[in-house]
Amino acid sequence: MTINFNVYAYKSYSQYQLWRLHATNNEQIAKLIDFSHIAHQHKVNFWSEEFHIDLPIDVTVAPESIESFAKYLSSDELKIKYDIIMKDIGSIIEGQNLIHKVQPSSFYADDFAYDKYHPIEEIHAWIDKMVETYPSLATSFTVGQSYEKREMKGLKISSTKAAVKLDGTPVNAKKAVWWDGGIHAREWISPATNIYIAHALLSNYSVDPTITHIVDQFDYYILPVFNVDGYAYTWTKDRLWRKTRSPTSKPNCFGADPNRNWDYQWCEGGASRDPCDDTYCGSKAFSEIETVQVSKFIGDHRDTIVHYINFHSYSQLWMTPWGYTTKKPAQFKLQDDGSVQAVNALAAVFGTKYIHGNIGATIYVASGNTVDWTSGTANITFSYAVELRDTGEYGFLLPENQIIPTGKETLAGELALLKYIEGHVYA
Ligand SMILES: [Zn+2]
Repeated sequence: MTINFNVYAYKSYSQYQLWRLHATNNEQIAKLIDFSHIAHQHKVNFWSEEFHIDLPIDVTVAPESIESFAKYLSSDELKIKYDIIMKDIGSIIEGQNLIHKVQPSSFYADDFAYDKYHPIEEIHAWIDKMVETYPSLATSFTVGQSYEKREMKGLKISSTKAAVKLDGTPVNAKKAVWWDGGIHAREWISPATNIYIAHALLSNYSVDPTITHIVDQFDYYILPVFNVDGYAYTWTKDRLWRKTRSPTSKPNCFGADPNRNWDYQWCEGGASRDPCDDTYCGSKAFSEIETVQVSKFIGDHRDTIVHYINFHSYSQLWMTPWGYTTKKPAQFKLQDDGSVQAVNALAAVFGTKYIHGNIGATIYVASGNTVDWTSGTANITFSYAVELRDTGEYGFLLPENQIIPTGKETLAGELALLKYIEGHVYA
């Protein structure tokens, strides 16, 4: 298979800079939030979704905006200090050499390179290969087609053994888990981590007792790339694209934020009504075919799915609902205790530190997000949004040599969380 990769059509980020803003009070935060909704007019793009004085706020600045944005930040109104984290984003993208990834050598799933990022066609071929290689455990499924008619293809892992209660007695109804990556197109480490974990479960089944047990305890629905159109677009046109690719009311602005488009307290805060904005919530709740179809699939399986993870990058956060409000749900402690298990096990591998908490308090409100719906509407108690590596050294441009380490530590965190969840659902 060859992919039409036209390097000259790729959006140039030459001389774009990444700045880290240091807001020290909530007044500054509030002003930055207001600014974030018009930032695209100033060729400024927020990489951070988090607006919190304890967390870094990273923004890209186009070369022609460097002077005016610096002036704006230092104005009496804001007085926000900043550091320049990347002097030339374009040179980093070029240095990561996207072209090598569309060579046939990395395509064949026999020698699928787990330490490389892969375009959507290769990821879908990898799913087929897993089904072929592990026929007693793996099947593929689709939740439907995207706006641009790509298949939203997932991998189901399911063993024939019955799940057991903690005392060893079999249970009649096996519970299920859903993980997805790539809801935001540019967050490439999230599909790669789903792939790593899925392969670890398959290849270690009946080899590693911990993994064998946890594979027997749950069925797994894994959608490595949720936003397939946006992800394809990051490979062919714009490495830093975030949203879906549907047309909007504005001719030059495409896509909605699929993590602001869910029909639960939709577009109430931390989302934008402007189609040109990166956090555009869509023309209505579930305006995007991709969120409709995933919600339908999950809704149809709500009796079995007990655990959901919406994988993102970056910032190293393990978060629980709510996103639409800073208030915590009644089951917050039950959920957050699971996060504690995950982040401790994760940190034990390479020392990578994650922060845990509710989304609303951790990163300011983000309404219409995925896990508010999975938790609030589908009643999946153990619903999490995870922001993977790093904390901004590379941001979305996380180098490939961090894919396997991220996979290893996230697998360890997830195994600890699954152990915790199994203790609650099969008690
Ligand atoms: Zn994201």
